[in-house]
Amino acid sequence: MELPLCSFDLRTGIFCPRCSEKLERGLYNDLDVRVMKLFLELEKKFTKLQKAGYVKSVDGGDTIFVILRSGDLGRFEVREVAQLRKVLSEELGKHVRLIEDNPDPLKFLEGVAAPARVVAVNKIWLPDGSEETRVIFDHERNLKVGEEALKKLLEEVKGMKLMIDFEKRRFRGPQRKERAPRGAMAREKSST
Ligand SMILES: [Zn+2]
Repeated sequence: MELPLCSFDLRTGIFCPRCSEKLERGLYNDLDVRVMKLFLELEKKFTKLQKAGYVKSVDGGDTIFVILRSGDLGRFEVREVAQLRKVLSEELGKHVRLIEDNPDPLKFLEGVAAPARVVAVNKIWLPDGSEETRVIFDHERNLKVGEEALKKLLEEVKGMKLMIDFEKRRFRGPQRKERAPRGAMAREKSST
């Protein structure tokens, strides 16, 4: 499997200067190391993994997202993906969801959030110069992924700070007060 850290280092647990630097910079963490080690074992049984590429793993609380390179999962049969997911879930002790990367952050988001549909996207520049992406989904009930997990995933994989909203929300009794926009100076600008 194509890994961002040397497979030799992963097997021995001693990281070369290049890999150490990646770990120190926080590009990869303990979870990534654990998942990559597992993949090195699993590629003997799941031989199609040998041609796959590892991108990142994100612990989203209830679910661990394991992201493979764009196009990698398509080569597996549905049954094989289910088996692989099951083995990873057992080994990591948490529900695992395998996803493919997409160079387009919005398409990546849509893939993970389906069946929820993105109806609008706005970029918001905060007074401190940072940028947030406000995404409006069609209906709260269609979003099966936890909002916090989705935010963490997009931040760690795409460096994107998300604000999530819905066109329609589940009815939760009396109408809640509209939230004040974050940062009174926040400028809203439509993205292209
Ligand atoms: Zn290395």
